[in-house]
Amino acid sequence: MSTSQDDHSIPVIRVRGARQHNLQGIDVDLPRGQLVVVTGVSGSGKSSLAFDTLFAEGQRKYFATLSLGSRKRFPILPRPDVDSISGLPPTLSLSQHRGHLSLRNTLGTTTEIDDFLRQLYARAGVVHCPHCGKVVSSQTSEQIVNRVLQFPERTRLMLLAPVWDRVSGANLEELFDKLVADGFVRARVNGELYDLNDAVDISPADEHTVEIVVDRLIMKEGIQSRLQESINTTLRQGDGECIVTTQQSGEEWVDHFFNERFACAECGISFPTVHPATFNFNSPQGACQECGGLGSIVLSPKTGSPESSANRIVDSNPCPKCKGERLNPLARKVIFEGKRFSELQRFSLDTLLDFFEHSLIDNTATADIKTTAESTSCFVPDSVGSLAAEKVIPEVKSRLHFLREVGLGYLSLSRQATTLSGGEYQRARLASTLGTGVTGACFVLDEPTSGLHARDTGRLLNVLRQLQNRGNSLIVIEHDLQTMREADYLVEIGPGAGTQGGQLVAAGSRETFVTRDTLTGKYLQRTHLETAPTSDSKDKPSSAGQLFVKGIACHNIHQLDVEIPLGQFVCFTGVSGSGKSSLLIDSIVPAIKRFLRNEPVELKLQGAEQIERVVQVDQRPLGQSPLSTPATYTGLWDIVRKLFTRTREARLRGFKSKRFSYLSAEGRCETCRGRGVEKIEMQSLTDLWVTCPTCGGKRFNAQTLSVRFYGKSVADILQMKISEAAQHFDKLSDMRMILQTLQDVGLGYLTLGQSALTLSGGESQRVKLATELSKQQIPRTLFVLDEPSSGLHPADLEQLIVLLRKLVEQGHSVWVIEHQPQIIAAADWLIEMGPGAGEGGGKVVAAGSPVELSREGGTATGELLSDWFGQ
Ligand SMILES: [Zn+2]
Ligand SMILES: [Zn+2]
Ligand SMILES: [Zn+2]
Repeated sequence: MSTSQDDHSIPVIRVRGARQHNLQGIDVDLPRGQLVVVTGVSGSGKSSLAFDTLFAEGQRKYFATLSLGSRKRFPILPRPDVDSISGLPPTLSLSQHRGHLSLRNTLGTTTEIDDFLRQLYARAGVVHCPHCGKVVSSQTSEQIVNRVLQFPERTRLMLLAPVWDRVSGANLEELFDKLVADGFVRARVNGELYDLNDAVDISPADEHTVEIVVDRLIMKEGIQSRLQESINTTLRQGDGECIVTTQQSGEEWVDHFFNERFACAECGISFPTVHPATFNFNSPQGACQECGGLGSIVLSPKTGSPESSANRIVDSNPCPKCKGERLNPLARKVIFEGKRFSELQRFSLDTLLDFFEHSLIDNTATADIKTTAESTSCFVPDSVGSLAAEKVIPEVKSRLHFLREVGLGYLSLSRQATTLSGGEYQRARLASTLGTGVTGACFVLDEPTSGLHARDTGRLLNVLRQLQNRGNSLIVIEHDLQTMREADYLVEIGPGAGTQGGQLVAAGSRETFVTRDTLTGKYLQRTHLETAPTSDSKDKPSSAGQLFVKGIACHNIHQLDVEIPLGQFVCFTGVSGSGKSSLLIDSIVPAIKRFLRNEPVELKLQGAEQIERVVQVDQRPLGQSPLSTPATYTGLWDIVRKLFTRTREARLRGFKSKRFSYLSAEGRCETCRGRGVEKIEMQSLTDLWVTCPTCGGKRFNAQTLSVRFYGKSVADILQMKISEAAQHFDKLSDMRMILQTLQDVGLGYLTLGQSALTLSGGESQRVKLATELSKQQIPRTLFVLDEPSSGLHPADLEQLIVLLRKLVEQGHSVWVIEHQPQIIAAADWLIEMGPGAGEGGGKVVAAGSPVELSREGGTATGELLSDWFGQ
């Protein structure tokens, strides 16, 4: 098929013969500088086109431009399977895959706002003494002299000027020559005194602390003028710092630090100079010593295999020293505009933006001299400080502004990146990209509306338009109807999944696309609404019972009581940040779980005895390494291994079940240790995985591969699509059960051995759901799902809704957090949180059937539903 009827005056990205994965030789022209939406059912090949062809080629071209030297560090990237691509600008991807994030990544570090705030606090912050709380002010050299004069008569002392905090041994000789030329005789290196004229026997490999001995004195009458002169010299040499070391009884010397910038006049204590690193909890200079900058103390995990603990969240308590603020005592006492660094970290981004809009330094250029009311000696930010603020604050404001525009104003900078949803993470990166002002690039995005209430989608689209207006091209994988209706150009891949997909079904401008008779075209024309309610019979909760929860208080929720129907399909809705997750995931579900374990419950629960078990199906990855696959996660691989041990070949060779695990040393390929891929560490870029050269991605060694079952080796089975495997192993009931459920949740197109790292949040969630469904069902189970619509085309959603309804028919409860109108409309009961986000939310604004909410209107979800039902 071709798109040749389109206007040739628009520059295009021209793709010819794309055959990556299941693509069947697609030719397509994507207009540059426009918002292009790529859609199609799950597994149709959208990602193969957008990420594995366009982005992969962009990345490959980027490496080709690197200098030969730096290129040697990287492998030659395989060319995507495509005849040609022309007109592709530099390509950036904003996918939902987070790569490997640790507890040290926060929203502040991810968006780089923390980098700017550190600059600001280091330059323009007022330091307060951690002991007495008084403003730490500069000491003049006179003040230092007066302080030294208080040492007792006959005290021996030395004045030391720290020259370099860290100097490598290799440069030490050079430094000594210079000091001798300047007239100095001695220096203290790593606390030891050296004569500068002697050869110094110090390891050139190590780093050393060097202080010049400026003068040696004994306290007595009449030394004041010599002391003053020497201290002036010391401060000059030491760049404002001066160490006075005094001899105690015996040979012991004690250092007293003085600093022209930071010393508490009250306590007489000096502090190290405040640098941006002072506010970096990921650096030793900034981190709280107790918790090492994590903000929490990890409790040692209870006994369990290392494999299981890798997938588990370890228990932790807030650090008692820093109270979770992660920083050292000094950094926690630096104040800018009345606020501490850690306070700003905990503000919602909306509040933070407000704070900077009203910050004095930014508004009045002449405000570079300010006094703090309670300070005895007033702190005067130097001109460097106010200059820094003038430069930094606009950068911070611009990033905050974009973060608010993408609907994340309710988050705080201290929020751990690992706890952000895939959609939130992607939008945060989108906002920081906008803040940096990239132009002329091509962005590939993966479902940016995921997790957004329809009310906020409009604002996200505005942000995408701004990116476009700067001359960027946007290629967006998306199922959201509102986004599709806004797109300049649409591409549909399909018609089905896997081998039934991979073709260009339709492509064209928005106007021409909606007239097409394709799956997506029909949804856009709204002629396809089978899941709309047919009667009002579902308007009242059934007699299956209710759960009453009283006294919920969590994040933005204060003392809330709710009633939730059991044995029904219930949707929790509300705008982003309204408190849906706080209500369900952080409060109610953990309380029910404690109740079921007979542990004390803080909330008042009534009716929880009607629930036998809770199954929570989230979007977190199945595992953090390529060793997790759908085959291992679902337990299917255990069955396969047992079957292999029963083959004649395995019995002859004495192969046990362990042999057929790519986790075991005997069975796996040793080069990649069973991963099938090798990781290339990349600086400042996401890590790159390349196919293992030894096994070619098969994960196993040759002996293991020689054993066959039903004509297939273990590697052949891992490479099979779930739908193929279901046919191939049709007669084996254990396997059939699992494979059938995976197909039921729409994952027939995945291969059994696909690495967990390549699964989207929505796919991971559906693998987990299928795993649960294929287990023996305990009656009256409560299923909790967080945004199951993510990654699904409207046609896939219908399949999912049928599955969820089936669970309800079997007597289970299904509680779902969701924004997607198609799913919301199909629920029995809705609980809407709101009215706004953050402190503006936290209340139940409506509860009832979808029809009731749409009739009542007046709430975000009510409006959405009345649109959806098309009244
Ligand atoms: Zn003090
Ligand atoms: Zn701490
Ligand atoms: Zn290998």
